[in-house]
Amino acid sequence: MTPLETLDPDALRRHQWARLGALARAAVPANAFITAQWARAGLAAADDLRGWGDFRRLPLTHKGELVADQAAHPPFGRNLTYPLDRYVRVHQTSGTTGTPLRWLDTEESWGWWARCWTFVLHAAGLGPGDRIFFPFSFGLFVGFWAGFEGARALGALAIPGGGQDSAQRLAAMETLGATAICCTPSYALHLAEVARERGVALDRLGVRATVHAGEPGAGIPAVRARIEEAWGARAYDHAGMTEMGAYGFECAAQAGLHVNEAEFIAEVIDPVTGRPADEGELILTNLGRLGSPLLRYRTGDRVRVARAPCACGRTFLRLEGGILGRVDDMLIVRGVNVFPSALEGIVRRFAAVDEFLIEVYRRGHLDEVRLLLEVRGNAGAVVAAVQEAVRVDLGIRVDAVPVPGQSLPRYELKARRLVRRTSE
Ligand SMILES: [Zn+2]
Repeated sequence: MTPLETLDPDALRRHQWARLGALARAAVPANAFITAQWARAGLAAADDLRGWGDFRRLPLTHKGELVADQAAHPPFGRNLTYPLDRYVRVHQTSGTTGTPLRWLDTEESWGWWARCWTFVLHAAGLGPGDRIFFPFSFGLFVGFWAGFEGARALGALAIPGGGQDSAQRLAAMETLGATAICCTPSYALHLAEVARERGVALDRLGVRATVHAGEPGAGIPAVRARIEEAWGARAYDHAGMTEMGAYGFECAAQAGLHVNEAEFIAEVIDPVTGRPADEGELILTNLGRLGSPLLRYRTGDRVRVARAPCACGRTFLRLEGGILGRVDDMLIVRGVNVFPSALEGIVRRFAAVDEFLIEVYRRGHLDEVRLLLEVRGNAGAVVAAVQEAVRVDLGIRVDAVPVPGQSLPRYELKARRLVRRTSE
């Protein structure tokens, strides 16, 4: 662990302040987008940022502003600190929730991404000598590109798993002696399914750590338990975003997500009032991506701050249960607030359920939930047990219905297991 990870809170704030000052001097007035945000807080020059109070006066950045800015100034928008020829990498968001955003990195900021990933991999106990497999279609979506660079920066062997189907990937992992894999939690479970069908003993592959991002899954105890059992490995949660960077990681204590506060400033606010809160929306500022930084960005992720110190000794902020869900994915079922991740946490406890989908529809003015379950064996009994577990744990009634095996989608990237239907 680097000394930065155990700094006392005052020293950590001083470190962040110095980084923020360097960012401000690079971006104001060179970067039109950041300079406009600065101006809205009444700050004209980089040096006008004199204390944390000034920082907290900066207006929050919304994803919609970035989309609008890129539409008005195509293709890359105005959040650029340097001339275009300084940028060496281009990415695009997956576009699962609307217009894709494009993002550029300079040589320095791409190196920064890789460095952020070394925190993730190192915390999962990985280092030189490890062989890390990336079953990822290396395309415009940044996804595990940065993880791949991070593995290299760490001195591990990075194995690309693009352009292969799941069976070929399992074979490649065996042949090349993979000791770790980085993928979404859903894809780890899907690979386990494929291995089972083909009679491959996944837990004998030699993989000792699995690192997951893209979905809350690895932070949900039942999902983690299922991955760890199938792979005979320890599963670690990680969080990152195309426009922000790789900001969260899990340590050996597996007690929630640490935010890498050496590289990011984290705030948690009540999404309605905007006031600081222990549970609410995560707001992030990245400190090492000077070419296209984001200040006080609304991530849309719902989190809960853990106050007790972590057993690992890190002083970085810890988020209990990782990312709890998207702020706008929260369902209100008969007056009860429910995140899809809470439903997943229950469904995944049932080993006979291979896959599931949450359908939400309106009945009158109320959200109603129907769970579609792919069940092996006695479907009726399992479906009834899931319904009962949801009623006991969450206090709501949901419909649950069995569906044929392999009838629901499987995902390599961000799974979308919540579908809103306009009618029953
Ligand atoms: Zn820890």
